[in-house]
Amino acid sequence: MKAITVLWVAAAVAMAQQRDYPVKPVPFTAVHIDDTFWAPRIETNRTVTIPFAFGKDEETGRIDNFIRAGKALRGEPFDNKQFPPYPFDDTDVYKVIEGASYSLSVHPDPKLDAYIDGLIEKIGAAQEKDGYLYTARTINPLVPHPWSGKDRWVLEGVNSHELYDLGHLYEAAAAHYAATGKRSLLDIALRTANLLCDTFGPGKREIWPGHQIVEMGLAKLYRVTGDIRYLNLAKFMLDVRGPQSKEQGAGNPYVQAQMRVVDQSEAVTGGHAVRAMYMYSGMADVAALTGEMSYVNALDKIWDNVAGKKLHVTGGVGARAAGESFGANYELPNMSAYNETCAAVGNDYWNHRLFLLHADSKYVDVMERTLYNGLISGVSLDGKTFFYQNPLEATGNAGKDQRSPWFGVACCPGNITRFMASVPGYIYAERGDAIWVNLFVANAADIKMDNGRTVHFTQETRYPWDGAVKMTVGPDQAGALTVHIRVPGWARNLPIASDLYHFEGASSEPVTLKVNGKPATIALDKGYATITRTWKKGDTIELNLPMPVRRVQAHGDVVADRGRVAIQRGPIVFAAEWPDNPDGKVRNLLLPATAKLTAEYRPGLLNGVDVVTGKAEGLAYDQQGKIVRQSQSVTLIPYYAWANRGRGQMMVWLPEIDAVARPLPYPTVASGAKITVSGKPQQRSFDAIKDGEIPAASNDHAGYFDWWPAKGNTETVDYTFAQSAKVAECGVYWFDDSGQGGVRVPASWRLLYKDGDAWKPVVAIDQYGVARDKFNVVKFTPVITAALRLEIQAQANFSIGLQKWTAK
Ligand SMILES: [Zn+2]
Repeated sequence: MKAITVLWVAAAVAMAQQRDYPVKPVPFTAVHIDDTFWAPRIETNRTVTIPFAFGKDEETGRIDNFIRAGKALRGEPFDNKQFPPYPFDDTDVYKVIEGASYSLSVHPDPKLDAYIDGLIEKIGAAQEKDGYLYTARTINPLVPHPWSGKDRWVLEGVNSHELYDLGHLYEAAAAHYAATGKRSLLDIALRTANLLCDTFGPGKREIWPGHQIVEMGLAKLYRVTGDIRYLNLAKFMLDVRGPQSKEQGAGNPYVQAQMRVVDQSEAVTGGHAVRAMYMYSGMADVAALTGEMSYVNALDKIWDNVAGKKLHVTGGVGARAAGESFGANYELPNMSAYNETCAAVGNDYWNHRLFLLHADSKYVDVMERTLYNGLISGVSLDGKTFFYQNPLEATGNAGKDQRSPWFGVACCPGNITRFMASVPGYIYAERGDAIWVNLFVANAADIKMDNGRTVHFTQETRYPWDGAVKMTVGPDQAGALTVHIRVPGWARNLPIASDLYHFEGASSEPVTLKVNGKPATIALDKGYATITRTWKKGDTIELNLPMPVRRVQAHGDVVADRGRVAIQRGPIVFAAEWPDNPDGKVRNLLLPATAKLTAEYRPGLLNGVDVVTGKAEGLAYDQQGKIVRQSQSVTLIPYYAWANRGRGQMMVWLPEIDAVARPLPYPTVASGAKITVSGKPQQRSFDAIKDGEIPAASNDHAGYFDWWPAKGNTETVDYTFAQSAKVAECGVYWFDDSGQGGVRVPASWRLLYKDGDAWKPVVAIDQYGVARDKFNVVKFTPVITAALRLEIQAQANFSIGLQKWTAK
């Protein structure tokens, strides 16, 4: 024990000398939010999401994994027939402990505190003698683990999650120690960190984490203990990454090992987005703590690439589902946008850190865009269901068009719990005798300044629904103080600081600022209105950010958004969703460039939101294939609030011109048919197969269904008509996910029709085609029938699936 005490004293000395971010965030514990937007969300996170996520951790065996590992270490009998499903399941427990700890910091809860103590005991019991903590291996130590290989760390550079788990443990441990002052989890974390220091480094194991976050975690342990070894190790793990290594994974862009980190200049195509965001955040931390400018130079270039070419208008990043990765420059699809919730959280961690390095509001502009749109879209209003993916358009037919209470890979819910609990920490920052006001939220804060003063700062506002913000500045002692008030890019005709998006036209009303009721000039410095004066208690600042409804257009190289507009008001991006629009349809809408749009607050809708309304056109094809247009009202809701009222259509980027619009197909005999499907296809809606739309390709994931995992099977789909109909032609568009999954076009198929009670084959004129990426059309001798049947034979060893089936 003595040795620890000595270390602790040494640590305290070291802490006094620490270099860190030039600007410091005002901690969330010093900021009390009292508004109708964030306060209820944070309360829902505390009372619903955190207990719910702990419950899921228990129900799904994630906590049991620690118990089993503990039994394995003690030589007690336990069920070890199975590996834990994923080796990173441990992090789902750590992340919720982190979120719960933040919550405890501001809201004492003895029951929750005791529950976490119980979890920490289980975690401690799962730790091996030398500090190693990774339940997947400890439960089954003798056989090669599917993700992490036969021995410790051997596959770390590729995809093992041993270091990833520990990174999340460190974040949780730092949070728990700060919240409770208890060292229980911190000591467990430090034992693992000491093992890492003994294991990794020059001349020892020279490998990087297969999934980043240990860099950020080690930086936190360094801040808590002052032990320089942790910081050095974080830096080592960044510097060792790259193609120069002989380790497996060297050169692989998926884990950002295509170049040394200091040489990187873009969020590389195919690079896993969450890994990237955590790595950039870790680089910023290490740069702040060491003064390593080569990291900052790399981050500045990477930021220009992301903000200039790879950021969705909702602030989402990581466009591709394949590899959960960044796409090419300007590859920003809508329906298939992946935009993992974790990547949004990571994007905000990163942009916040860049602000702390540069004191420039352009990073806060991105952070705010993500926060109010593509991040909080990840959790339902009731706090119990989550999105893993956050697309910008939906048919309502895909599994991903509906929030889920949990996931097999459950990274996103835990990230929500920890992020939401710490939101008040993103509002203010300080340095010397200066305060930065970054976000506008009704709150009261006690800002402890570097120079020893305390400033009581308050905001009164209805933001994000209203741009009027009244602030009071109450220093505890007189003296000059600089207040930097962010004037958001969206209020300065600049959605973000790049040419990726622009507003149509100009905002007619200017931003205004008053100090103690008198108009003040706005002299912008890095996006902040800066006021230096001697403040006294009761002084006021009034900022008015006009919030007209704006039309956003994307850079012409964003193919998916050509001819389309997104609607933004203040920081909020809007979407058309099915319940608010005629016939529950929005994907056939066209919003003329001249349509007048107005905003109004609806207190009863979606916990209180602004909606944008106006006149649009609903487009449909007539029997001759000509577009028919009908004037109709359109109502848009905040994007973040979609999918809280069931499954259906949603669209952010609305067509302005016919060329990109999607008129409703003319109804056919198939449109009104009842669908019956054999076997047990995955839980999906079948309705999409008869909607007459044309899929992008056979592997389009928007609205297909399949019989996976059945293989080599024979299946049927029946159309039963309301009354007998004459049919002479069918077309089938197969689902086929070659390269990703095990579904292929079938070996063969045929059509049958109902004659009385019997199914008889039609007399086909054409071949039954099995081509990918097109309709396989079969004409046949016309039949008058009450029902049609599609009989499909899978290839051996493959499953089958269907995109569309037309009949006329
Ligand atoms: Zn996730």
